Amino acid sequence: MSLYSPERDIYRRARERMVSQQIAARGITDERVLEAMRRIPRHLFVEEALRDQAYADHPLPIGYGQTISQPYIVALMTEALELRGPEKVLEVGTGSGYQTAILAELARWVYSIERHAPLLERARRVLEALGYDNVFFRVGDGTRGWPEAAPFDAIIVTAAGPRVPEPLLEQLAEGGRLVMPVGDEWSQVLVKVVKRGGTFHRQTLEPVRFVKLVGEYGFEE
Ligand code: SAH
Repeated sequence: MSLYSPERDIYRRARERMVSQQIAARGITDERVLEAMRRIPRHLFVEEALRDQAYADHPLPIGYGQTISQPYIVALMTEALELRGPEKVLEVGTGSGYQTAILAELARWVYSIERHAPLLERARRVLEALGYDNVFFRVGDGTRGWPEAAPFDAIIVTAAGPRVPEPLLEQLAEGGRLVMPVGDEWSQVLVKVVKRGGTFHRQTLEPVRFVKLVGEYGFEE
């Protein structure tokens, strides 16, 4: 018995509307990102009482004071990673696992770290039920990265920190891209760092608001 049957998905049209009205309409053009977001059943990553809101234009609570990011922000960050298929990706902040599923569709390997074990276990169950077998999970402080698996072609941090954690820069491959929200607890900007010729090139994308990145190279609890 599989958890998910695409033929019986009553949310298919909601998902198509989400992609056209919230994502493509705001300038996301990477067809692989749009296709992944049309395909992945986002409603399975939120609790049942919130399923009807899963495709709405805002974040939703997932427990433990955390949130599943707004669909547009997921698309924006994913497009910025420039995934083409063969990459090894590090994700810090598994949360619901929705972003993890997008990465698993678009890259070869995903290494995902979450500090709240119960969130990670729930995400792992959903991803396994959907058939993803290219994701490695770890409970812990993702600001330290995952040194044994480095270097990474892309790194995404889905919680906001005061700065880009040094270990993550060290674990970025040549040519690699890192995307994360940087700022204070209340407001941040999305920062993209590209490592080229051994140096880091930094640009800012958009103002955002994320939950706190808590860890050695993040905020205190
Ligand atoms: N991409 C997720 C976002 C979840 S919110 C989604 O859309 O569902 C951010 C997550 O980062 C939370 O689950 C939080 O527990 C986690 N987090 C915060 N600091 C962390 C750290 N240092 N290491 C790993 N995970 C962290």
